[in-house]
Amino acid sequence: MLGAPFQPAPGLLVVSASKLRDFQSCRQRFHLAHVLGLRGDGDVDDLGTGPGLHVHAELHARHAQPQSHDGPDHSNEETPDDPAVNRAIRAHMKLCPGDTAQYLGGEIDLRWFAPGKALLITGRVDAMWRYPDGTLEVRDYKTGAVPDVLDNDAGALLYALLAATQPSGTPSFGTPSFGTPGRVRVVYERLGGERPGIVSLDVTADVLTRARRAVFDLADDIRRERQFPASPHPARCRMCPFVSTCPEGGATQ
Ligand SMILES: [Zn+2]
Repeated sequence: MLGAPFQPAPGLLVVSASKLRDFQSCRQRFHLAHVLGLRGDGDVDDLGTGPGLHVHAELHARHAQPQSHDGPDHSNEETPDDPAVNRAIRAHMKLCPGDTAQYLGGEIDLRWFAPGKALLITGRVDAMWRYPDGTLEVRDYKTGAVPDVLDNDAGALLYALLAATQPSGTPSFGTPSFGTPGRVRVVYERLGGERPGIVSLDVTADVLTRARRAVFDLADDIRRERQFPASPHPARCRMCPFVSTCPEGGATQ
C-alpha cells in the first residue's frame, strides 16, 4: 500500500497548515497521514509526548475564562501537572497581548475557497486578537521549533491568506476592518525551549501575493505527487508518528 498512487478527488483539494508542513517535511508522512488517513503512534507531537495538546487546551480554557488567565500551575483532567506544560503556560503569560488587545476567540476555524483553483484552504487558529488600531492578529501557539522569520513559512503564509480573505464585517468579529491587508498580523508564540518569544509577520499586499503563490504552488505539487518519497532525518523522524512502521525512518534510529 505504501507509495500507492495518489488519486486526488475529481473536485476539491483541501489544504491546512499541518498538511502543508507534513508535505514539505516528508511526503511519505503526508501520504500516510493525509491520503491514507492513518494515525500512527498518535501521541507524538512537537514536544515529543503530547503535552503540546495540553498547552493548547489549557490556554484555550484560560482565555475563555479571563479571571483564570493568570492562575497558578495546576493539574486537572485535561492538563496533568507536567513541567513542560507549566513552563509553556508561564511563557505565554509574558507574551499574551491581553493588556492591549481584545480577545476575539480561540480555536477558530477559518476557510477560504480559492477562486478558480478547486482549492479549499482551511486552518484552525489558536487565538485571535483585535488591537485598538484595528489590527487583527492571528496567533499560533508553538511548543516546538519556530523559525526566526515567517516570510517563507508555509503555515504562516496560509494563516495570512485566511485572515486577510475573511469577509469584511463578519458578524462575529464586528468591525469592518476585519481582513484588510496591512491590518492583519500572523504571530507564532514560541512557548517551548529556552527562548520564549514571538515571531510575527505583518500581512502586507506583497506578503499576500507571496502567500497566494506559495500555497497554490504547494497545492499543485500535492496534486502532481505520485511517489511520496520519505525524507529520513533524525530530528524529523523522532517526531514522526509513523517512524516505527516507515521503511526509511528506521535508518535514522
Ligand atoms: Zn493570554
